[in-house]
Amino acid sequence: MGHPLFPVFLDLADRRVLVIGGGAVARRKIETLEEAGAVVEVIARALEPGLAGWAAAGRIRHLGTEFAPEQLEGAWLVIAATDDGDLNRRVHAEASQRRIFVNVVDEAPLCSFQSPARVQRGRLQIAISSGGAAPMLARHLRERLERELDDSLGALAELIEEHREPIRRRLPDTQVRRRFFESLLAGEVPGLLRRGDRPAAVAALHALIDGADRRQSGRVALVGAGPGDAGLLTLRGLRLLSQADVILHDGLVSAEVLALARRDAERIAVAKEAGCHHATQEQIHALMLAHARAGRFVVRLKGGDPFVFGRGGEEIAFLRSHGIDYEVVPGITAALGCAAYAGIPLTHREHSQSVRFVTAHAREEGGELDWACFARPKQTLVFYMGLKGLARVRDKLVAHGRPGTTPAAIVEHGTRSEQRVIVGTLDTLPALARQHALRSPSLLIVGEVAALASELHWFGAAPIGNATDLAQAA
Ligand code: SAH
Repeated sequence: MGHPLFPVFLDLADRRVLVIGGGAVARRKIETLEEAGAVVEVIARALEPGLAGWAAAGRIRHLGTEFAPEQLEGAWLVIAATDDGDLNRRVHAEASQRRIFVNVVDEAPLCSFQSPARVQRGRLQIAISSGGAAPMLARHLRERLERELDDSLGALAELIEEHREPIRRRLPDTQVRRRFFESLLAGEVPGLLRRGDRPAAVAALHALIDGADRRQSGRVALVGAGPGDAGLLTLRGLRLLSQADVILHDGLVSAEVLALARRDAERIAVAKEAGCHHATQEQIHALMLAHARAGRFVVRLKGGDPFVFGRGGEEIAFLRSHGIDYEVVPGITAALGCAAYAGIPLTHREHSQSVRFVTAHAREEGGELDWACFARPKQTLVFYMGLKGLARVRDKLVAHGRPGTTPAAIVEHGTRSEQRVIVGTLDTLPALARQHALRSPSLLIVGEVAALASELHWFGAAPIGNATDLAQAA
């Protein structure tokens, strides 16, 4: 396996390119070279009719019938498209010796550059390469893009090129300019060009430019990243991540989700774990404010859902009090993600008619929990918590009358490839958690439904333990 190729687009205008071969393949290459403005010289024993015509008209020069290494002098690129293997190898060797990039058509080992599959819309080009590994795959992608990309993109590229300088002058700040181009592309201009109404497109573009320097203040989006599996992110969350200038993310946000964000967005990790203390929360507020006031689009990316034990409410209250625009994008909260990926239905016609999301940090967050209420049967309890609280939760529930034999499960790293599920009962679970050295983040699910994981699990490793075999606990 070689390295991936280094991608470039070459400016070949008025540069000499040597082509060896005069058949249909050579002709296709020469067409593309001519389009790029290259000065094409050909060495071939025979020229196919099209090429012969071009040579006669002086569009290309037919240097001769036999390849001689001196002909390489002064060439920027060489392409060999002959069916003579020895000749191809010679061309490759002589060109390489002179440090001239060479392509022997369809002979990857004899190429120091490759020509990609490409999709072209005017000046806009998309080049696709598999580095010679799977040319069919590159061609397949090319066909898909051909179907998907509208013809008017060329006109769009041209329109933008014409207005680049005025836009740069009016919007000197790069972030502001980038947002301008985003709204240009998401707005009506591309559609107007698609319909062929260039005057209307130009007018709409001018209106946008006039409006853009008035919209300079930043804003913040609180986005729920879900519990880990990037597939659980919402489409809106994904879109905002691809637009963000700055991303302030929790420790709970998975690397997989972060990888979906705009590449050059500034990423700032703001808290290691849930339940961050006040200093940190204040720093988060200050960061959001500073970046938004600098005109940036800030995505505050939080594990799970921003409004479930995420202090999202405090964050938007702070933004509101400082006059910063905000929006909230919900996420799949850990309870929903972990239950689904562990095969534990949170409600069940026979076993559970309600479900509660409980924080085991209630005391820190203002108030003791209503344990008597939690101890009632036929309900599912989901505890967001550090594992250290586990024995205390068990003691409280049992003391208030929930049987020690009530099934319970812990889901560690839910929805992620390393997910582990441990099934037991209120009585057995703390020992099982210790024995298997469970770590954060972990979620506790208490109720008859927890036992169903043994039967209904489908994701990752099968659950450890079960809710009936009490002997196992000891
Ligand atoms: N806003 C988040 C919760 C933050 S509180 C949400 O809606 O999910 C942090 C707690 O969430 C962790 O201590 C853990 O109990 C739980 N948690 C978050 N992600 C988890 C995951 N992938 N697996 C198990 N528990 C998780």
